[in-house]
Amino acid sequence: MTQDTQPTNLSSAEASRYSRHILLHEIGLAGQQKLKDSKVLIIGAGGLGSPAALYLAAAGIGTLGLADFDQVELHNLQRQILYGSKDIGVTKTEAAHKKLNETNPHTQVHQHVGKVTADNAISLFSDYDLMIDGTDNFPTRYLNTDAAYFTGKPIIHGSIFKFEGQVSLFDPAHQGPCYRCLFPHAPSPDSVPNCGEAGVLGALCGLIGSLQALETIKYLIGFGESLLGQVVIVDALSMQFRTIKSKKNPDCPLCGSNPTITDLNSMNDRDHCKPKSHHSSESHHYPLEIEPSEAKEMIDNDSNVLLLDVREPVELQICRIENSVHIPMGQIPHTIDQLPKEQHILTICHHGMRSMNVTRFLRAQGFSSVTNIKGGIDAWAKQIDSSLQTY
Ligand SMILES: [Zn+2]
Repeated sequence: MTQDTQPTNLSSAEASRYSRHILLHEIGLAGQQKLKDSKVLIIGAGGLGSPAALYLAAAGIGTLGLADFDQVELHNLQRQILYGSKDIGVTKTEAAHKKLNETNPHTQVHQHVGKVTADNAISLFSDYDLMIDGTDNFPTRYLNTDAAYFTGKPIIHGSIFKFEGQVSLFDPAHQGPCYRCLFPHAPSPDSVPNCGEAGVLGALCGLIGSLQALETIKYLIGFGESLLGQVVIVDALSMQFRTIKSKKNPDCPLCGSNPTITDLNSMNDRDHCKPKSHHSSESHHYPLEIEPSEAKEMIDNDSNVLLLDVREPVELQICRIENSVHIPMGQIPHTIDQLPKEQHILTICHHGMRSMNVTRFLRAQGFSSVTNIKGGIDAWAKQIDSSLQTY
């Protein structure tokens, strides 16, 4: 109990407000003081940033920065719970500032209106202890994780695609991989739609944003096991949580032994949102993602194609495509040596997100001919084979 004997400057009103935190031995007065002394920047005050900001303000983070350039629109309200109908047309940071002040007047809110760019990211991040990435597109995500790397600051990654979400911690000061160790280069803009086009489930944003807030609190106080070197993947449809280990990639273009990205302006893939020109020409030969109909044609006409199903065994019992090879996503890193580099691997899962992760992972490991099947077995059942049971 030594931590609670350290002096704090919490007022009696604050001690009372945070009493349910303080009662937890892992937090105590000392932990609560650490939260008060912390500065957290939330990039993107949207579906993920909303729950993260509300929980972190309520938790007593001393300074919360909010970076966003948008105004509140009607279609945001389905998931962006920082805002209400009266906020439509108001700048998000402004509306959020007001709401967070109501939630907890002890938390100082700093508004950063405008886009985070290669020119301002380093100085912005330098003012904070930790970043939360709540953005919904790849160029910004790469910029944020690159800038976190160059400033040596931790960043809590969160993302959503349809019914699946991911959370991880990248912390260059404490080893572990960076985002580019997992996904070296940004995908082409048309290969992965953002939530503006793809649809997004509000409650899933709530779950992922809350997990980001929770990781932030654990990190700042220093208790529990962090997500350093681990990615949590949530499948809302089956309500399964999986954790996959992520390793540092020695050939990583950012943190590897021979980096090609040496400052925020030394790369072009964030701007153009496509692989860098030095990427092997082989990888251009195969698209990152194809439609089920194209995949079907390849499988029927090319004996060098391997269909790799990365779903869980229980899902296979519901439906599977004939002659597919089954390795659940979590097993891929352990079985990578058994996969044939000379074959064209087509990856498939339920809706296309897990298999996209596997596609990017395998490409990062040197498999250039890997392609994701868009929409997964669900789309396959609808477009190719209606005898397959959907779920
Ligand atoms: Zn890296």
